[in-house]
Amino acid sequence: MPEGHTVHRLAAALRAGFGSQAVRTSSPQGRFSDAAELDGWVLADAEAVGKQLLIAFTPDASVAPGDPVTRYVRVHLGLYGSWTFAGEEGFAPAHAIGAPRVQGPEGDWRRLVPRPTTRLRIQGSQGLADLTGPTACEVLDGAGRRRVLDRLGPDPLRADADPERFVERVRASRTAIGVLLMNQDVIAGVGNIYRAEILFRARLDPAVPGRDLTAGMVRGIWEDLVPLMRYGARTGRIVTTQPEHRRLEARILERSRGTLQNGDGDPAAVPREESFYVYHRQTLPCRLCGTAIRSGDMAARTVFWCPRCQSVRSRRARWTLEHPAAAWAESGEHREPAAATSEESDG
Ligand SMILES: [Zn+2]
Repeated sequence: MPEGHTVHRLAAALRAGFGSQAVRTSSPQGRFSDAAELDGWVLADAEAVGKQLLIAFTPDASVAPGDPVTRYVRVHLGLYGSWTFAGEEGFAPAHAIGAPRVQGPEGDWRRLVPRPTTRLRIQGSQGLADLTGPTACEVLDGAGRRRVLDRLGPDPLRADADPERFVERVRASRTAIGVLLMNQDVIAGVGNIYRAEILFRARLDPAVPGRDLTAGMVRGIWEDLVPLMRYGARTGRIVTTQPEHRRLEARILERSRGTLQNGDGDPAAVPREESFYVYHRQTLPCRLCGTAIRSGDMAARTVFWCPRCQSVRSRRARWTLEHPAAAWAESGEHREPAAATSEESDG
């Protein structure tokens, strides 16, 4: 299942590929009959909130998005959904999710026959996007969009996010922080990789109840997530390690090789076996202390942690001394997790 940064990239790809254009919409599979109602409408905007994608359509270009006639297609990819982009050269940053099926001479993409499972096809003047296998694909009005936003916790990638909603929800709960981070009603967009990595960076045991954390600790988690997820949204890759922690055991055959990421073929990108502190590194030595990383089930997904760095007993002291976000802040601004050599080459 894609994490929130990927859905934000999809929204950007849809804006870049179809924004302000009248588009053709159809449901080759036939299961999204409402697609016919929007056929010929203008794709006015696309936004992500957590793992939900909301594509705004207006009847014509003179209507501003947000006008009461605006309709929103809500898409949740779930485990199996994907978007496939095809079009003329330079059409949409198609590496968002799903590879472009056609990169041939101009015009070829127009003849691309949709897969029979295509729930929604959006076709513009420069290219098309096919949606297959989503968990949700439905049309909402403005009130429906509002309900989606209100139901979800704040999304660290949205400018309108209120981090205090996250702080309050966590501190009011006796549920483990490792479970709360996966609850989209508490914070939207965090998935299994960000959960494990952010807790390591905070030196927090995933099993600590939310109410045992100080407001400063919870705010620190948020403030650390924002630049990490922005980096992910910009590059399509999750990198949480600081450069000085990456090469400790580069020779070890890591299990993280099973985690495919955009940019894997890019020699300048941070290799995935160096990108994480704990995710899929169970039994391997911690990059900081050498203790074997552990794994266990939490919120129906496997969580990974270092039992020494993330011990309950020492967390308060370590928070003050070692919290990475605090180190980032020393320079006066959040710095990206130092993969500068690879960022620009991803397009
Ligand atoms: Zn450790």
